[in-house]
Amino acid sequence: MNFCSQCGGAVSLTTPPDDNLPRHVCTACGTIHYLNPKLVVGCIVEWEGRILLCRRSIEPRYGLWTLPAGFMENGETAREAAQRETLEEARAHVEIDDAFALISVPHVNQVHLFYRARLLEASFSPGLETLETALFAEEAIPWREIAFQTVTLCLRAFFSDRAAREFHFHEAALPPVSGRI
Ligand code: ZN
Repeated sequence: MNFCSQCGGAVSLTTPPDDNLPRHVCTACGTIHYLNPKLVVGCIVEWEGRILLCRRSIEPRYGLWTLPAGFMENGETAREAAQRETLEEARAHVEIDDAFALISVPHVNQVHLFYRARLLEASFSPGLETLETALFAEEAIPWREIAFQTVTLCLRAFFSDRAAREFHFHEAALPPVSGRI
């Protein structure tokens, strides 16, 4: 950040009094511009036991498979975000069930939240950010071609819970070791 969105003045990185982290502070009007993590929301969509995956038509991870998910917008609830992302990426209408997994990804300043959901009808097709949409049985999941570690983690927890016939909420954090999401 170089300029203040309030007044257009120059911004400098300094630690304000009573704070313990450097912030972008406007040298003209004094506004402190806080940068905080972004929430990525998505869902594990089920239809007759199979899971809806989308093959990405955008970077990063072009061509790899993911769950429908994306950045939450201002003014919407997390559930609405999950529903909207599924409609945008897979042109699918879903009913959102319980929150299933919350995964912190501190090295990219993101938190990923996944709901369980079910398709309302067997109708889906690729949206703008998707090359291909398909339903996968557990044994057919393309594990080596999953775009994000958070999605792998979420799917593994889902199948494990489903096998045990009891879903519960999972909280995790991705270690920064790989530098991947
Ligand atoms: Zn300013």
